[in-house]
Amino acid sequence: MDVASARAALASLQRQRHAYSHALGMLYLDGVTHAPSAGAEYRGETLGVLSAAEYRLFVCPETQEMLALLRETAGALTQEEIRQTELLTREYENISKIPEAEYVAFQKLINRAESVWHEAKPGSDFAAFAPCLEEIRDTLVRFAGYYKPGAHPYDVWLDQFERGLTMEKLDAFFARLRARLVPLLRRVVAEGAIVNDGFLRDGRFPKARQQALSDRLMEILRLDRSRCAIDETEHPFTIEFNNRDVRITTHYHEDDLRKSMYSVIHEGGHALYELGIADEYMFTCLGGGVSMGIHESQSRLFETQIGQSRAFTDLILPEIKALFPQLSGVSEEAFYRAVNKAEPSLVRTEADELTYCLHIMVRYEIEKMLMEKTVPIRDVPAVWNRLMREYLGVCVPDDRRGALQDSHWSGGSIGYFPSYALGNAYAAQIMRRMKKDVDVDKAVRVGDLSPVVSWLTAHIYRFGSMFDPGELFERCCGEAFDPDCYLDYLTEKYSAIYGLV
Ligand code: ZN
Repeated sequence: MDVASARAALASLQRQRHAYSHALGMLYLDGVTHAPSAGAEYRGETLGVLSAAEYRLFVCPETQEMLALLRETAGALTQEEIRQTELLTREYENISKIPEAEYVAFQKLINRAESVWHEAKPGSDFAAFAPCLEEIRDTLVRFAGYYKPGAHPYDVWLDQFERGLTMEKLDAFFARLRARLVPLLRRVVAEGAIVNDGFLRDGRFPKARQQALSDRLMEILRLDRSRCAIDETEHPFTIEFNNRDVRITTHYHEDDLRKSMYSVIHEGGHALYELGIADEYMFTCLGGGVSMGIHESQSRLFETQIGQSRAFTDLILPEIKALFPQLSGVSEEAFYRAVNKAEPSLVRTEADELTYCLHIMVRYEIEKMLMEKTVPIRDVPAVWNRLMREYLGVCVPDDRRGALQDSHWSGGSIGYFPSYALGNAYAAQIMRRMKKDVDVDKAVRVGDLSPVVSWLTAHIYRFGSMFDPGELFERCCGEAFDPDCYLDYLTEKYSAIYGLV
């Protein structure tokens, strides 16, 4: 093989892999939206066949030879090809260590676990889900041993979701958060009665009108509807196929206006990132967001930093009143305070900015125990409930609102949650940097976020996976990551809302 044919093979391999992930992604999306429920098991068969084909396409002597040659002749490659070679080599070194049968079995396990979890959650039947969780945990520990023998399995998985992340770094990060968040929350709770949000949960928000609100929100975010579609699922998420086809989902709750509204803005932030990736990266491994942490920084930047800012709530309130006339008497001040009400609660996805990271800390502690096998699977709900009491001061009434609430573990992801907390902290620092160049408040007040989207495209989106997350962050912000920026933001915002001095 010469360099020219290796470069051609590199492009061709990535195109083919993209086609598989496109097809697998569509099957997944269909499975959680429109597919009839009885099809899950047979869809699992199809997923198994496609996953096996995808595995064999990638893991073979030809790929190994091609990557080795490209590494040796880096001088003849473009920067993009060098980066592609680097990312594919990293992936190859991991995936090729997993025997094909185990790889395929894991894909099938996840497909089954998702169905089991879906059925177990409404009835809080943790015992029904426990065997799946145990199998997933055991598989992930085994895979971690293949990837990096001798390393702590949780460190191995943290690094998969956010390159360079370790328990040591997270312990320090969370300790910093805890030191400032817990006392702040305690003071806010003491003042809690002064914020009323009952009018946002009064049970009279017809779905059709909430759909109209979703359309308007997507318009404000400058989401191009010819490239981004919206659907409904039990749990909102974003899935991307390329920068011309990104799907977001939401769930309408007729009793609560906030839930879908902020889901749409959150998923919209994820979608903007994927839609903003440069055309020349499409059909390569550079054509997706670089990490979960950076991705979450983009969704939370829109959801909280922008969507829950005074400028945004002032902008959207008149339109909300037009759709839901029962809110006609609500003042701008009351609306702003209501969407920012901070209150310890049970469910992570509904948590306010102030308590959000405490929910993540609960999961972080449990994931450590899971990977170290220091907690029997059946005891996970008890540990969950104890930590929720300790960190948030709430009593968990059932597993539906406790250890069964999230889909991540059933989806085969242990190590994903911490990137949510990191994303929140990244978002605050990215916003602070962006405000040096862009009058964000003004853009929001006039209802045209294009200056914001353009800035983020130039500094983050367009690069796709060209740089590791740490490097991308520092290029964007011009400084190292500093969680105090996030803590300063929260302290200032909530001190003002709750009149703390
Ligand atoms: Zn998200």
